[in-house]
Amino acid sequence: MSTTHLLRMSQFYAPTLKEDPVDAEIASHRLLIRAAMMRKVASGIYSFLPLGFLALKKLEQIVREEMCAIGSQEMQMSIIQPADLWHESGRWDDYGPELFRLNDRHENTFALAPTHEELITSLIRNELRSYKELPKSLFHITNKYRDEIRPRFGLLRGREFIMKDAYDFHASKESLQQGYDDMANAYGRICERLGLTYYPVEADSGQIGGKVTTEFMALADVGEAELAYCGCGYAANTEVAQANIQPQVFKAGELEKLHTPIEGSIAALAEFLGIPTKATVKALAIKEPSGALSVLFIPGDHELGELKADKALPGFDFLTDEEMQDSGLVKGFMGPVGLPQGVRVIADVSLKDTAHWVTGANEPDYHFAAAAPGRDFDVDLWLDLATAQPGDLCPTCGKPLQLARGIEVGQVFQLGTKYSESMGASFMAEDGSEKPFLMGCYGWGVTRSLAAVVEQYNDENGIIWPISVAPAEVAVLPLALGDELVEPASLRIAQELIAAGIETVIDDRDERAGVKFNDADLIGWPYQIVVGKRGLEAGEVELKDRRSGQKQQIPLTEIVSQVRAVVEDARQAYR
Ligand code: ATP
Ligand code: MG
Repeated sequence: MSTTHLLRMSQFYAPTLKEDPVDAEIASHRLLIRAAMMRKVASGIYSFLPLGFLALKKLEQIVREEMCAIGSQEMQMSIIQPADLWHESGRWDDYGPELFRLNDRHENTFALAPTHEELITSLIRNELRSYKELPKSLFHITNKYRDEIRPRFGLLRGREFIMKDAYDFHASKESLQQGYDDMANAYGRICERLGLTYYPVEADSGQIGGKVTTEFMALADVGEAELAYCGCGYAANTEVAQANIQPQVFKAGELEKLHTPIEGSIAALAEFLGIPTKATVKALAIKEPSGALSVLFIPGDHELGELKADKALPGFDFLTDEEMQDSGLVKGFMGPVGLPQGVRVIADVSLKDTAHWVTGANEPDYHFAAAAPGRDFDVDLWLDLATAQPGDLCPTCGKPLQLARGIEVGQVFQLGTKYSESMGASFMAEDGSEKPFLMGCYGWGVTRSLAAVVEQYNDENGIIWPISVAPAEVAVLPLALGDELVEPASLRIAQELIAAGIETVIDDRDERAGVKFNDADLIGWPYQIVVGKRGLEAGEVELKDRRSGQKQQIPLTEIVSQVRAVVEDARQAYR
């Protein structure tokens, strides 16, 4: 429990605000500021005020408990790290401008840690020596620093933020898989204890490296990530989702040239021909760093997945209008039949079974209908290129996929030997040989998930904290301070709740009832006990449930026991 003594609003530093901060575009950012949880220091950098700190510490404690429950050990690594470590892994250069760099007075160079793979690997590499000591799992909860190109949305994308990061070291693939599965299960439990609606999704491993990875996405319309999911349990970030796309055939038969004097867009073409966009094929001209030119073909109603394309064709770029012209490509009318010599045809796998395409004729104002791969042209390379859309079919069960937006609150990775090899971290295996450790790394956004909770739990009046992260569980609101009945009764209730182990705050400020009600809802205390003069005279107080808005009159003699029961139930629900 984070509060074992009575919190008195009269003594608390909690400057709530009536107005929304001008730079806050989303609910969590707005409400965390207005409810006096935090204040901005600089772009993407925040200080936590006492109320926000209480919530943050409760959230952290949940993360800590779930890490300890799977045998990970807490430690604390430094944030300032010698540049040499980052040179060893190769990330000094790879990380780019997101890495905060600094020099000391002796001109030694350091980084502010955006993550801790390098440091943990260097910590264990000479001291964790034998397979007999494996596996080992370590974690810490500290500030991270990333000079994000677009810090925004308050805690969702900060430049200074708090992360729980865990790392584990294994002797075998099976052991690594076990560690990874345990961690993924722990992340699921954290989500549940925070009350988050979430999906674990297949994802790209990005900057960190490695192959097997899952992102934990808290659903929210403001989320920067998009996920495709299905009732069968399949869920993937649309950056990587392998949707089964079903293009439509306009007409079969011989290759037929159509006069299409239009403004070269897919929508215009579809309208002109009176067919759906999914019966057309979109063409995009690209160049690779080698100088090779290609045209990518994807179903007309889909977008190119740039991450998918970049993984398959590293460093590719779109051709400019000028470059297209110079290479003999006709913008808006490109097609696979009759491309200039040397230009490759690369097509999305979904078009493999599409026997007849509507495509450009490589001639201004002309398209082909029924262009058939294998008959009229050859495809040099089939790739998964298109981004999933609603209605595409689930690659696992074949039912239509749905799309949602999400906030990535955590990610688990199997790194394999990426860091142990580059940084020379090995152990003695059972057969006596030296082997690089197999590693996993597991990040959880502590501050980001706090904001994700607020994104999912708010209304027009403020935050609706799930009890597991609420700064306190119950607020007592005495409506007539100084009244000979109200004040002592309120204090007695509050103190009895505290004695019963319930986190309790009393709004003993000399303020009007309206101010107390508004602040209580804005701050989002899960349960509010309203103590008024008239009620007391009838021997009653009011209990309000912030989430449902429901109010009940409860006899004074029963309020403590009833609140205990309600709080106990709520705690169980988030356990
Ligand atoms: P993103 O793709 O959102 O930039 P990431 O994949 O780079 O995040 P990781 O390196 O996987 O992030 O970091 C682990 C966790 O740390 C993320 O899942 C997220 O919850 C949190 N996190 C990452 N970047 C930020 C940030 N700028 N502000 C707040 N939390 C962050
Ligand atoms: Mg990530």
